[in-house]
Amino acid sequence: MQGLASEAVHSVSSLEYKRGYRLEGRSFRFAVIGAGMAGILAGIKLLESGRRNFLIYEKADRIGGTWRENTYPGLTCDVPSHHYTYSFERNPEWTRQLPPGPEIQAYFERVCAKYDLFRYIRFGEEVEQAHFEQGHWTLLMKGGTETKVDVVIAATGVLHHPNMPQIDGMGSFRGDLFHSSSWDHSIELSDKRIGIIGNGSTGVQIVAALSGRVQHVSHFQRTAQWIMPVKNGFYSEEDKARFRADPAAITEVMETSKYRAGVEGYSQVITGQDSEGARYFRDACLHNLESNVHNPSLREQLRPDHEPLCKRLIFSPDYYAAIQLPGASLVTEGIEHVEEGGIRTADGVLHELDIIVFASGYHADAFMRPMQVWGRDGVSLADFWMRRPRAYLAISMPDFPNFFMLNGPNGPVGNFSLIEIAEHQWCYISQLLARLEQGDCLEIAPSQSRFKEFEAERIAAAKTTIWYTGGCKSWYLDADGIPASWPWSFERFVREMSEPDWRAFGLDEPSTREGQRVE
Ligand code: NAP
Repeated sequence: MQGLASEAVHSVSSLEYKRGYRLEGRSFRFAVIGAGMAGILAGIKLLESGRRNFLIYEKADRIGGTWRENTYPGLTCDVPSHHYTYSFERNPEWTRQLPPGPEIQAYFERVCAKYDLFRYIRFGEEVEQAHFEQGHWTLLMKGGTETKVDVVIAATGVLHHPNMPQIDGMGSFRGDLFHSSSWDHSIELSDKRIGIIGNGSTGVQIVAALSGRVQHVSHFQRTAQWIMPVKNGFYSEEDKARFRADPAAITEVMETSKYRAGVEGYSQVITGQDSEGARYFRDACLHNLESNVHNPSLREQLRPDHEPLCKRLIFSPDYYAAIQLPGASLVTEGIEHVEEGGIRTADGVLHELDIIVFASGYHADAFMRPMQVWGRDGVSLADFWMRRPRAYLAISMPDFPNFFMLNGPNGPVGNFSLIEIAEHQWCYISQLLARLEQGDCLEIAPSQSRFKEFEAERIAAAKTTIWYTGGCKSWYLDADGIPASWPWSFERFVREMSEPDWRAFGLDEPSTREGQRVE
């Protein structure tokens, strides 16, 4: 379908004539889709820049995205608290070095209230379709209502469609069975035997939280994971008072934390398995395993056969201790089926259970889908993303003009702060918006040729990354086995986001005009 569209560059004069509309001097209407971390950011930035003509459409009845949906025991973000905040809204109130899920949700609620954002949010409004026609986007809601806007910001999140494997016999289980993102809090856990399937960040956090507090935890591991040790200390009342009194104290904590060095090391590992960063992570993970898992046979079961960071690295201060408690067991035999009383593994053993939790991850390739989107000349997103989700610099797509994504496909994900990433992306998007509003173009989207070049370069780079060469399977890989995450350094990402390459959008360098909005 790509071939249907002409180059994406549409000058004011040619399009004014062809399509019979003009944008210059008009008050732009914006739709933000999703009121999670990125949608809230977009709302605040629109308000700050004086753009009040927008609404945020949120299908649920509360803000928060992943932090609203996930409430499982042990829910924590493994990015340090002060790095997991908006740069313009630091939070002196974090109680721990790694932020607990409920505190993150409360932080977003507070931020929305402070910026008076709730009145711009329409809860219970799910965008089902978006069509671009005559220079406008028409959004069709699940309830049948329609709205017309000039610009769409899709802030629909990355991991939000649960992956629920279908295992034989699931329907016959007489206990409770649910995905980690739909935790059933009505169930008293202390006297229960609980099976957790999956050992990604979620499964590891749940096991660490439940082990020793419930009758028994069986952790079903299909592939061993590297686990990076991390501290998760408390901030004292004195610390918090200091942060409240002096924001520089927060900056100091951020500068002295290992996070920045971790990002740098992570960037090195992506493309250099022999880099200093790779050695650092390998040594730290190996030391963690060797020195903290005492039983040699358990240690071997927990020893991965792939390179650290090939899968998303797990940070945990307490998983190894938790899995060695008397009320916990690691199960590495494959799952044969589920039956009335529990899970039967390939060795014939029945693991008797009262609750089965699927910590089995998400469909990482969904992004804004199942929303249906049609761009210029009827080009459909379903076609454009048929092979894999893709976008120029993770933000925009040819033939989908005036449509921008936060945390869209091929951006950095992994172990970074997605808040920081979204802020860099906003810096880029805001510059595109300024060109539109100045009337430098009527539609802004990358050209087909630049997009194709970029995509070829990205795929070539992806094949050199640890996610491709490191010998493992993970949710980073698309259906063709190509890593979908940003394949270059974080530094390069920040540089690319600092200013668009205007030629990719068919525009000259911007003239500096008084009143130009770039924020
Ligand atoms: P995940 O990393 O995709 O892990 C899914 C787990 O389920 C894997 O261990 C996988 O095994 C297992 N699994 C999937 N299907 C299975 C099946 N049919 N039978 C047995 N095992 C199966 O999912 P997640 O732990 O929910 O994490 C997803 C992402 O969410 C993370 O990578 C991270 O980006 C984000 N997250 C972040 C934090 C944080 O602290 N920042 C916390 C939680 C989640 P295999 O490895 O063998 O495929």
